[in-house]
Amino acid sequence: MMTKKEKRERMKQDKGIVDFMMVTNHFFRKLRDWIAEMDDPRNPSYITDNQTDLNYMAILKNVCGQHSMKEMEENFNKENCIRTLRLMSGNRRLDEMPHYDTLNYYLEKLSPECLSELRKKMVVSLIRGKQFNRNRLLGKYWRVILDGTGLSYFKEKHCDNCLCTEKQIE
Ligand SMILES: [Zn+2]
Repeated sequence: MMTKKEKRERMKQDKGIVDFMMVTNHFFRKLRDWIAEMDDPRNPSYITDNQTDLNYMAILKNVCGQHSMKEMEENFNKENCIRTLRLMSGNRRLDEMPHYDTLNYYLEKLSPECLSELRKKMVVSLIRGKQFNRNRLLGKYWRVILDGTGLSYFKEKHCDNCLCTEKQIE
């Protein structure tokens, strides 16, 4: 367990969105291009915001813990946010956050296959780059990560199939 002091130290080092962008650019150098290459479902004559802007805005919304489009609209209406989105999407002409109606409309129309292709490209690039290799258990076993720990939780082992967490004594 982290102590409160350790937590404070960790918070001090947290550079927020800068860290996020460094990690993204490091592992997914071509993410922007991949996003821009997706089939844009909108009528080309009505497009004002490009796909990269919209997708990065959606990513920012989730990364920044904005629970609703309305909350995002209010909190993102700042010069800093526009600059951040401009950096992330690489669109130097961006001078205003896209409207959330535009984002909603776009996400409604976008084919889920496009996003699943995007995810596939990300996973493939992690595998090709051997990013997981040095984290193998005992140097040879692949770890499988399951995110389902909160689905059922019991204080006592309630059946033979239950996984248990054990406290490590140092
Ligand atoms: Zn059980």
